[in-house]
Amino acid sequence: MSTYARELEVARRAVRQAAALCARVQRGVEGLEKSDKSPVTVADFGSQALVCATLAEAFPEDPVVGEEDSATLREHPALLAQVTREVDAERGADAAQVCAWIDRGATREQRPRFWTVDPIDGTKGFLRGEQYAVALALIVDGELVVSATACPNLPLRPDDPERGVLFSAVKGGGAFAEALAGGARWPLAVSAASDPAAGRFCQSVEPAHSDQEQAAALAAALGIRAPARKLDSLAKYGIVARGEAEIYLRLPRPGSTRAECIWDHAAGVLLVTEAGGRVTDTRGAPLAFRHGAHLTHNRGVVASHGPWHDRILDTLSAFEEDA
Ligand code: AMP
Ligand code: MG
Repeated sequence: MSTYARELEVARRAVRQAAALCARVQRGVEGLEKSDKSPVTVADFGSQALVCATLAEAFPEDPVVGEEDSATLREHPALLAQVTREVDAERGADAAQVCAWIDRGATREQRPRFWTVDPIDGTKGFLRGEQYAVALALIVDGELVVSATACPNLPLRPDDPERGVLFSAVKGGGAFAEALAGGARWPLAVSAASDPAAGRFCQSVEPAHSDQEQAAALAAALGIRAPARKLDSLAKYGIVARGEAEIYLRLPRPGSTRAECIWDHAAGVLLVTEAGGRVTDTRGAPLAFRHGAHLTHNRGVVASHGPWHDRILDTLSAFEEDA
């Protein structure tokens, strides 16, 4: 078996099962009309419980750095009961077990080998019925080595009426996509575009998450004509990895000191680099996944198909000097 083949298989299985729970909760009448918050909360907790349960079985020694913990859930018995029902539908579980699984993913302990999970990235997209992702990555000695990302609402291929993609990658082994519904995997490659006039870039839907004015100025400076494509979650990395856009920009807003969370990026970074692209922060530094739960040594993110990357960084640096 090749390096990390088992980890990849387990990661794909884990996010596929969690995505099934999320999709069911999102479709379900239960809660969605009654309140905005509860269904997403159910799915966030349920998804993390399932991913951590699968990892606990397969790799009991590995810590998991995840977004959620069970503290709030324990204070809301009705919600906990709902999460337990949803998790139980995927694999037998009681409430205590569900909380224990969630909290397996609440560690901030530093170890050379650990997983990071975002049980639902793009919560706002999930609530709008748009894009969201379940993202899981394995980091060993600061290096991304395995990634699996489920995007239940993303077209299987560009413009495909079928939705639900599972992206995966192993360091040195390439990037792949497959239907969440099952079937063969196929390799991904970034865009081969050379003329920025035909370039496409993507960014967050939420204006608070990235400086959209600066992104527009950057696109204009590069000669890109198309407006930004806006979508929630790590689906943006998938879009770049499969050649549907050349650039994903996450530009900190002026004055922002917020450090990005590792689970919002780890799986996507390996996906894009294995598809032949490049990912750095806005100053050209590689994203550093060895400083805890946040990318404290980085500022923003630029992911691209490669050929224009240095020009993007130079332009951003010129903007910074002008500011
Ligand atoms: P996206 O769907 O790409 O906009 O990213 C969703 C993620 O943005 C969430 O999981 C949050 O961790 C993260 N986030 C929340 N607030 C901010 C912010 N002010 N700037 C950048 N990212 C943020
Ligand atoms: Mg997130």
